[in-house]
Amino acid sequence: MIWAIPEDAVAAADSFDLVVIGCGPAGEKAGAQAAYFGKRVAVVERADAVGGSCINTGTVPSKTLRESALYFSGLKQRGLYGIDYSLKENLTVQDFMHHERAVVEMERSRILKNLELHRIELVQGQAAFEDEHTVTISGESRTRRLRGEVILISTGSKPHRPAEIAFDDIHTFDSDTFLQMDRIPKSLAVIGGGVIGCEYASIFMALGVDVTLVDGRDKLLPFLDAEISERLRDRFASLGMHLWFNERPVKAENTASGSRLTMKSGKVLETDAVLFAAGRRAAVDGLALEKAGLALNDKGYIAVDANYRTAVQHIYAAGDVIGFPALASTSMEQGRVAVCHAFGLKYKQRVASLLPMGVYTIPEISAAGETEESCKEGGNAEADFCAGGQETAWRQHDWGIGDGVDSCGHDGAGQWADD
Ligand SMILES: Cc1cc2nc3c(=O)[nH]c(=O)nc-3n(C[C@H](O)[C@H](O)[C@H](O)COP(=O)(O)OP(=O)(O)OC[C@H]3O[C@@H](n4cnc5c(N)ncnc54)[C@H](O)[C@@H]3O)c2cc1C
Repeated sequence: MIWAIPEDAVAAADSFDLVVIGCGPAGEKAGAQAAYFGKRVAVVERADAVGGSCINTGTVPSKTLRESALYFSGLKQRGLYGIDYSLKENLTVQDFMHHERAVVEMERSRILKNLELHRIELVQGQAAFEDEHTVTISGESRTRRLRGEVILISTGSKPHRPAEIAFDDIHTFDSDTFLQMDRIPKSLAVIGGGVIGCEYASIFMALGVDVTLVDGRDKLLPFLDAEISERLRDRFASLGMHLWFNERPVKAENTASGSRLTMKSGKVLETDAVLFAAGRRAAVDGLALEKAGLALNDKGYIAVDANYRTAVQHIYAAGDVIGFPALASTSMEQGRVAVCHAFGLKYKQRVASLLPMGVYTIPEISAAGETEESCKEGGNAEADFCAGGQETAWRQHDWGIGDGVDSCGHDGAGQWADD
């Protein structure tokens, strides 16, 4: 007797306990966690390389450039002028990134090895939902259909590109294309005083670039303690950065030599280069979420519950695609928690409620727990804060970039963060 195979059936070889879409920090760690507990896992990645924005365009490249900038500014300010450390004409970002290539390659191989160790199948191609259990993968050579008992969406985020900004990736960049810049500009406008904007603004300041940081609000990094935010603003200003608050560009034109930004107040800013770093969005282009019965929320992200489960029972989402805090280590933990919940594993049931935060500005900031403002809002009248941070301050002295004064505070539970 010959059994008729339904046309839409997925071959057993293409049926997995877990299909992960996206191989950044969230996808890699979620896949490894499920495979560790014996699940059959496929991870789909559309880019040529694994690692997501963490390894390829964001965390690792920006931190490598930062180290070079620190080295450069430290040498300059400590007066060790045996060698000419002043910036040469037409220096490229790549000149500062020798070490980055080695780190990126090492990380990519580590990820591939991790997938291999866990017997995870890496499927190359763009994933799109066909229905709530089936994902179609369009690769270079063929199209493949995968069935997932559970599916994890970990497709990350992409920079917001507003229509009024003329991105040409020659003079005007977003945070994904910025480090492809073919030279270090003499002047730079950074639009957006969030983490990415502040980090790049301070790195380029340290490289000797004339930086103007523009933000629509009246403070930098508003999720931090107001006092820390103010200190950072003062430090930036004392290092020579121009800060334009309550301002935003309404028009950006590229010229032969740079970019011309017209602000909402009518002020005009002309610079060699512009980094637009005001906001990111869930990267769900081409994913056909609607075919799985999903949609983005009004903030432009995939909504999940405390277990990282979406509105569809067996579909989970983790990492940047669900929004704040959009950090690499948090994304990894979210991925692990999501698959533990999906398969009823008791191993990891919550992401820690107290997440340390590192902001790699120059000078750097670290924080954990409540802010002074949130303590007070929560009715903790005893919340009080002091000045005189330790490690960061030492490092600033060492590099010659600060006066060694930082803020430290209360953890909201009776302990001084510096105790
Ligand atoms: C400039 C910059 C600096 C940063 N610095 C830090 C830092 O210092 N510390 C920190 O913790 N975090 C930092 N981050 C944030 C960190 O990079 C992200 O939080 C982290 O990479 C998110 O991981 P993810 O797995 O959610 O997504 P991603 O790393 O973005 O990975 C998503 C992956 O999914 C793939 N993908 C997308 N759609 C599809 C599809 N349809 N089919 C197949 N594959 C798909 C993408 O190609 C990508 O590889 C920084 C980010 C930027 C941009």
